[in-house]
Amino acid sequence: MKKLYLGLDIGGQSIKGIALDGEGRVAGEYSAQTPGPQGTEAVLSAIEAGIEGLGSHGTVVSVGVGTPGGVDKEGRVVGMSANIPGWFGTALGERILRMAKGAPTVVRNDGNIAAYAEWAVRRDQSKILLFVGLGTGIGGGYVIDGEILGGRNDRALEIGHCIVEPAGRRCVCGVEGCAWTSP
Ligand SMILES: [Zn+2]
Repeated sequence: MKKLYLGLDIGGQSIKGIALDGEGRVAGEYSAQTPGPQGTEAVLSAIEAGIEGLGSHGTVVSVGVGTPGGVDKEGRVVGMSANIPGWFGTALGERILRMAKGAPTVVRNDGNIAAYAEWAVRRDQSKILLFVGLGTGIGGGYVIDGEILGGRNDRALEIGHCIVEPAGRRCVCGVEGCAWTSP
């Protein structure tokens, strides 16, 4: 059986996934709309479908998942995650581990995991890498010497929620004047 390394990104609009083989070649891809308005269980089902589909042609060695919002050390979604209503408090790490049938699983903030991926594929293996992601919101990540600077609950680079206009428009996170406010 082919060894497969899975990666999934949970976005406000879509869930995208990829399976790589042991040589780093693409062995499968997955894309689905994020059923955010249907609730957390619907989003988890879409993630599970992705993991099952991507892992169906081999043995899943590991699964990495990026999610909006803060993530604690146990992989639980904490703090706000503005783009998926009800996502707060989801025991994502535990659920993904079950979906992955016990294969090693990493769940991190989406900007951080994207920054790490960018760092990992670059040949120069930069000492410092700053990533800015423009998706449904504005995310970011910072990698120093191969380590993610996650800060408390992985939220160090949630730059979309920096306040740039005190008493400005209310953001979906509840704070006024964030760099990014929902349309
Ligand atoms: Zn905000």
